[in-house]
Parts: sequence; C-alpha cells; structure tokens
Amino acid sequence: MARTDWRADAACRDLDTDLFFPASEADADAARAVCAACPVASECLEWAIETRQPDGVFGGLTALERHRLVRRRQKQARKARRAAA
Ligand code: SF4
Repeated sequence: MARTDWRADAACRDLDTDLFFPASEADADAARAVCAACPVASECLEWAIETRQPDGVFGGLTALERHRLVRRRQKQARKARRAAA
C-alpha cells in the first residue's frame, strides 16, 4: 500500500480540489503553480504513479504527463538492462 503520510505537508491541503482536476491539460497551470511550491511534490507524484491515478494534477504533472514519464522510465530501464546484459 502506498504511503500517504506526506499529505499533512501538502501545499494544496486547504485548497479546492477542483483546481487539481482541470477540464483540460491546457487549464492545468494554476495547479502546476501550487505544486511547484509544494514540499512533498515528489512523494505526491510517486503516489499518483504507483496508484495509477487516471485524472488530475499530482506532483505538478497531469495524467498525460505522468503517462509520458512512466513510458520514459520504462524505456530507460530497458536500455539499462540491455547495457548490463
Ligand atoms: S504536489 Fe500538488 S497535488 Fe501533490 S500534494 Fe503538493 S500541491 Fe498537492
């Protein structure tokens, strides 16, 4: 189970959650700005990836951006495995 104790320090703790679920990727800048100043952004991002959050901005990344990050990480891991073989 993914840890969530970092949430107590979240910069968005007292904000309207709607801000983090924008209608489109293009409308995510306000949420990104909050995340940019959040002390637990990396924990939040890893939680969202680990729990496969399908929507919303977490750790400053939208769902599409998280998907792209996961793909990049998978590609790097495959490359590292090939290099080690
Ligand atoms: S990174 Fe963003 S969504 Fe995650 S806890 Fe911080 S402010 Fe909230």
